[in-house]
Amino acid sequence: MMEEKKARKRESGKVSENENEQISSEISHSQQRSGYVALIGRPNAGKSTLLNRLVGEKIAAVSNKPQTTRHKIQGIVTKPEGQIVFVDTPGVHKPGFLLNRRMMAAVHDAILSVDLLVLMRDASVSTGNGDRFVFDLVKDSGKKAVLVLNKIDKVKEKGELLPLIEHYANEFQFEEILPISALKGEAIDNLLVQIIKHLPESDPIFGEDEMTDQPMRMIVAEMVREKILQSTGEEIPYVTAVVTEMFDESNPAMPKIFCAIYVERASQKKIIIGKGGARIRDVGTKARADIEKLLGTQVFLKLFVKVVENWRNQERNLDEIGITE
Ligand code: GDP
Ligand code: MG
Repeated sequence: MMEEKKARKRESGKVSENENEQISSEISHSQQRSGYVALIGRPNAGKSTLLNRLVGEKIAAVSNKPQTTRHKIQGIVTKPEGQIVFVDTPGVHKPGFLLNRRMMAAVHDAILSVDLLVLMRDASVSTGNGDRFVFDLVKDSGKKAVLVLNKIDKVKEKGELLPLIEHYANEFQFEEILPISALKGEAIDNLLVQIIKHLPESDPIFGEDEMTDQPMRMIVAEMVREKILQSTGEEIPYVTAVVTEMFDESNPAMPKIFCAIYVERASQKKIIIGKGGARIRDVGTKARADIEKLLGTQVFLKLFVKVVENWRNQERNLDEIGITE
């Protein structure tokens, strides 16, 4: 359209250099939209099903972007129209009566830090307290929100959706109300387009080079390995493998991570541990800082050193350690 406008102006012979500049800045201005989005809704609404369908394993790797310290990123969708960064909002999905004031403050903080809320509800069941709770959060936040009515494949008569749509439209000014099926993949493309439409004008927040499809366990192990190499210099370089042996997120506010550092000889173990444990503590502190930045939460990180003689030459050990070359 802009090109057309420009061409039209050119034909009329009235385009000055200056105007040309203005038009091209208009073109780049009407470019992409990108932002942080919280997908919220009571348990069982279908949030994970939708996220899995949309983003697979792709997540943001360590990034120097300031916002990432505040957000736990669940996944990123990049389209020609822009980029959606889905973030976790801890506590939002719990029933309200269980939350104390401090938890509620954390919930509000999470909600207020995003550009758009996407409220999902299961359209195939009648509404309960949980829906009321998340709906009230949306209403009180003053944030722009899109309503997603999920599981329409279970709604036999599409006309049954109309009273539900009307009910929500009367209670809140949603930017959009969109019936979908996350499971069957119905109306998902349109959902993305509609979400992007309501994000701020901005280039993608994360570039392709900042994303990875490596599982979190491997990323964490790599961070620990990097700190060991930095800290030990030439002493130890190629004899270490790091394996994340436990990644327990049952307390999402403080995931527990155990990493094993494999070396071949007791002398190497001594080097990694350092005098009075100084070196491994330093490695742990630095690695933990990186991991916390990546996950957007505090973590409990435990490192231990295992001596497995000649592990690099033993196929069985390599399998156990999880290394393939
Ligand atoms: P969450 O608690 O919001 O993350 O919900 P889940 O994504 O775990 O989904 C809860 C259940 O609903 C699962 O058994 C899903 O397979 C199912 N589900 C999710 N979306 C749909 C849908 O569009 N249609 C149907 N029929 N089932 C769905
Ligand atoms: Mg879920």
